[in-house]
Amino acid sequence: MSHDTVTDASRASERDLLSVERRLVDQLERSERQILELELVLSDPDTIQEDRDSARAVLDSIRADVFQIRRAITRIEMRTYGACVGCGRPIADERLQMIPFVAHCTNCA
Ligand SMILES: [Zn+2]
Repeated sequence: MSHDTVTDASRASERDLLSVERRLVDQLERSERQILELELVLSDPDTIQEDRDSARAVLDSIRADVFQIRRAITRIEMRTYGACVGCGRPIADERLQMIPFVAHCTNCA
């Protein structure tokens, strides 16, 4: 009686998920540092309007990323990471490698 094959397979994917989670946490920390820097630029009264506008645009897009990254980390913890949140089918590996926090497959994106 042996479950070695099953155990090895789930161990491998566990390891993969851990490395994905590490990547996501790194990205999250980087993004949060960027947000702090941009908030400093915005809170500086000497910052000109043009720089303010571009800082706000970048800030918005980083905040959107942070939101997606947090949700991806939650999906890892809930064991649903890698499944499309739209249709439930697996998201292609290449797509996940390119955008680790992607939530939708190409059909649902
Ligand atoms: Zn889908």
